[in-house]
Amino acid sequence: MSNVSAQTVALLQELVKIESVNPSLSPKGSGEKKVAEFLERFCRERNLPYEIQEVTDGRSNFLTWVPGHDPDKRVLFIAHMDTVPVDKWESDPFSGEQREGRIYGRGSCDTKASLAAMLMALSTLGERQPKTTVVVAASIDEEYRKIGARAIAQSGVSYDAAVVGECTNLELVVAHMGSLRWQIEVEGVPAHTSRPHLGVNAITGMAKIILALDEYHRTLVTRAHPLVGSPLLTVSLIEGGLELTTVPPACRIWIDRRLIPGEQPQDALQEVENILEAFRQGEHKIKVRSLLPALEDPAPNSAEASRIAAVAAAVCADVAGTGKYIGGTGGSDANQLSLAGIPCIVLGPGSTDQAHTNNEFVEVDQVAKAVEIYQKIMLSY
Ligand SMILES: [Zn+2]
Repeated sequence: MSNVSAQTVALLQELVKIESVNPSLSPKGSGEKKVAEFLERFCRERNLPYEIQEVTDGRSNFLTWVPGHDPDKRVLFIAHMDTVPVDKWESDPFSGEQREGRIYGRGSCDTKASLAAMLMALSTLGERQPKTTVVVAASIDEEYRKIGARAIAQSGVSYDAAVVGECTNLELVVAHMGSLRWQIEVEGVPAHTSRPHLGVNAITGMAKIILALDEYHRTLVTRAHPLVGSPLLTVSLIEGGLELTTVPPACRIWIDRRLIPGEQPQDALQEVENILEAFRQGEHKIKVRSLLPALEDPAPNSAEASRIAAVAAAVCADVAGTGKYIGGTGGSDANQLSLAGIPCIVLGPGSTDQAHTNNEFVEVDQVAKAVEIYQKIMLSY
């Protein structure tokens, strides 16, 4: 293993050992603060400038950079510090243990591997000055509402392009889906189940709506994006009823709607609203309403035509034999960065198959290649 690879592995292990579960996903989660403090020490030791950008309640993005020849151009490399919670692991989820060519631990793949590789690529540029100023950002809250990336997009600093580190197996993702999540509630009237005609059953009402939503989902296949496919709608949670002998007075569902590039969140909400409106009227007279605000993550515009995609494609082909433009279904910080019109590619070590799983890991070989890929993009963009 080369010196840089060994240093990257050591850095990744340090990052995994710092528990940084998103506190919005688990009340026990510590958040990103300790990771940011670690990165501060990392940059001090290497004389890299840095900035701590507070976003909310002591949760801050961390940014470091190397100035380029052209002071007006900036390229952003971004990976998130937060992780999803841990469930039933066979071993310590924060060990950062290395075995059989893999690093194990929560966040090892999603996305501390990308973060370690980006930091190592930046900090080993040495005398080679990039053309464009290279900023590496460690963001907060990607796993929940992406408020870290949103703060970067709205910070007033403009970026010409972004490389978003996520587990793509070093494949080059130039387009991916956005997400909308919200709740729908049906209101019924409680009554004794021996007198059901005196009540209105909210669960039965919701059942009709769910079937209509399923029908609507089927029609979405007629809209397809060449790289990411068709939009998706899933009724992902349901709750309702009080107890066994009462006609249910309320029923709620959660909707997860995946948007393809070009679909506007407002339009997708309106389409479901039209379905609900049909149930409010006519024979059904169901009392139903959408509970907003929804989580709103627009689908980024496809970066197929961007220079960052072209540069990355050449580098990926050279280093890893990848670089074909592909689409993805999952979200990333690109959802929020695209609101500022920044062309984004998503590229990083590790597989989505391992992200969020028990016994998450990343292949060391991919992490080493990621350092090389990121550094070559930094130097040639
Ligand atoms: Zn994730």
